[in-house]
Amino acid sequence: MAGRLLHVRGVVQGVGFRPYVYRLANANNLGGWVLNHADGVEIYVEGAEPDLEAFAISLTAQPPAAAQISSLEVSERQPLGLAQFEIRSSRPAASPSARISPDLAICGACLAELFDREDPRYLYPYINCTDCGPRFTVIESLPYDRARTTMRHWPMDARCQAQYDDPADRRFHAQPLACPHCGPHYCLESAEGKVSGDLASVQAAAQLLRTGAIVAMKGIGGFHLSCDASNAQAVLLLRDRKFRKEKPFAVMAATLQVARQIADLTPAAEKLLLSSARPIVLARARVELRGVAPDTHELGIMLPYAPLHHLIFAAGAPEILVMTSANRSSEPIAYRDEEAREHLSGLADAYLTGERPIARRVDDSVARTGVFGPVILRRSRGYAPGAVATLPVRNPILAVGADLKNTITLVVEGEAFVSQHIGDLDHYEARAAFRETIHDFLDMYRVDCGELTVAHDFHPEYASTLHALELPARARVPVQHHRAHIASVLAERQAWERCAIGVSFDGTGYGDDGTIWGGEFFVGTVSGGFRRALHLRTASLVGGDAAARFPVQCAAGFVSRLEDSTDLLQPPFRFPSRYLACLRLVQKQIRTFQTSSIGRLFDTVAALSGFTREITFEGQAAIWLEQLARAATPVQPYPFPLEGTELDFRPLLAAILRDRQHGRDTREIARAFHAAVAQAVCQAAGQLCEANNTTLVVLSGGVFQNELLVAEIAARAQQERLEIWMNSAVPPNDGGISLGQAALSAMS
Ligand code: ZN
Ligand code: FE
Repeated sequence: MAGRLLHVRGVVQGVGFRPYVYRLANANNLGGWVLNHADGVEIYVEGAEPDLEAFAISLTAQPPAAAQISSLEVSERQPLGLAQFEIRSSRPAASPSARISPDLAICGACLAELFDREDPRYLYPYINCTDCGPRFTVIESLPYDRARTTMRHWPMDARCQAQYDDPADRRFHAQPLACPHCGPHYCLESAEGKVSGDLASVQAAAQLLRTGAIVAMKGIGGFHLSCDASNAQAVLLLRDRKFRKEKPFAVMAATLQVARQIADLTPAAEKLLLSSARPIVLARARVELRGVAPDTHELGIMLPYAPLHHLIFAAGAPEILVMTSANRSSEPIAYRDEEAREHLSGLADAYLTGERPIARRVDDSVARTGVFGPVILRRSRGYAPGAVATLPVRNPILAVGADLKNTITLVVEGEAFVSQHIGDLDHYEARAAFRETIHDFLDMYRVDCGELTVAHDFHPEYASTLHALELPARARVPVQHHRAHIASVLAERQAWERCAIGVSFDGTGYGDDGTIWGGEFFVGTVSGGFRRALHLRTASLVGGDAAARFPVQCAAGFVSRLEDSTDLLQPPFRFPSRYLACLRLVQKQIRTFQTSSIGRLFDTVAALSGFTREITFEGQAAIWLEQLARAATPVQPYPFPLEGTELDFRPLLAAILRDRQHGRDTREIARAFHAAVAQAVCQAAGQLCEANNTTLVVLSGGVFQNELLVAEIAARAQQERLEIWMNSAVPPNDGGISLGQAALSAMS
């Protein structure tokens, strides 16, 4: 006889881990216990040596599907003579760092029961088990127990309780467990009155959707606004009401077969669509759904993930539904019932609301397949708040991110927890959500602010910076934006000492010298810091960050830097008067800033290729340019030479302007531009690699969301034997900044 105490860390709570351990211990004739600990799961087992051995092997070899074991500590104990194995109740502790499981899409077993007439949970929208269901969106505090979830309002009836208590049952300790008899319900409210009952309300909602109405639906992490995606009138009405002119809407396809009909799905894209996070996946559209995604060949698609979604399609809703966050313009998604009624009045014709409260707002995630594997563009439901890295620090760190696509990262006992997507902090509502999330995370992980290091952007006027300066903290560390981008990639791989060439391309970030950076090459390590080695030659930017809204405004600032630009200044194509007005401002140096931003160079080339209107969402002109380039076959790159420590855009723009005057096809121009940027990246990074005795090139920043550019770089990098690393756990856009800030501040 021998005894062993095991401490398991990782995603091990709320994923059916304890019942699994229980069954495994019984199968191996072991006595002891298992309990949820504040920072993981504690297991004590005793029995014969070979049985203990077999137990330990299976434990790590075949954990439950949604579990992720990050560490396992084993120590020897004197046997206590326990004959039974039991599941003990959780033990709360002072500093909980147990990972909270993200929300999980409905599993196959629950889905089968949902449509089984004989099952007690037949057509019940809150069906779930230990393998599936809400987690992060129902947890009010840690450790994860029913009494600390939003399900505490519904005491279980005898049948649910029996399943909850039975270690052999799939629902053993499934915290959000409920049935139609004891649990919450849905109802439909509209001007016509209220429809009660799960089935009746879902049927009424499906009927409304068929007739072109807009229905607000309460899901897992908030409300969606939904309408028939094939009904152009309904889609345009939704755009109108939402004040959303052009930004694409995501759609939900009833089944994978339907998704295949509307988009080209690679096996990798299908895998992503079906993953338990069920993100919105961007793929090439096969059909045009008028008004859904104007001006782009891509479509954002997701599959049903909540039982409610399956019910609504089964009740006869159109097979393709627009599913967009319920909010106005770019406000955060509504998730509280009163808030939804208040904010969505006039937007939705009816509300399909459920009684279970949502503990915190969590948007749908957005992902795509890329040259180097899946790319997360918005990390939220299904991923957050999973830890993405382990940092070599003991003290807690809070990194508050950047002002666009904000996320925060909290590091507790070395584990870096990245928050759900919060959004752009230029709105009052988003700033409130930002402060709420910080408070939520500090509270949930019970962080002592006296020990806290707060990392923030270098930009002195960012809302996130200003808030960081007000938080109680032991220390504050400003981190330069583009270095944070590079560090985010290296942090994901725990590569603190690897010397890398960091290529950081994005729209905007505050540089060391106070100018607007965004086309930077760094050399260094996370532990030792990054030195700016090369950058895009600086150009003028009229109106600073505001120029991002007007590609022609960017074009004026870049073109004005051309030496013999007089004949090029008046392009032969029609340009809005804004262009010439901006040129005059540049010449007089009025409201003009300096920038090395590649994002603005993309805007410039988009303007010169014909995108002369105002953009209505971030990155629109660059996306337009990428689509344009994809329509051409590969062509010779434009000249984009490295002069000293600067990439000189002047020969590039002069060539584009000349080509435009000669009437060259703009698709070819866009393609040659992409090739030029890819070639310049590989040449410049290759030289830096040689000079610094490394082969590792790290790419990050919003510009690298451009898959055509990444593919062109990947092809060239292979020839030059450069190893390319990009983000995979966090977005390459500013959603990944908080992780990079956390990593760099941990080393400072
Ligand atoms: Zn299930
Ligand atoms: Fe950025």
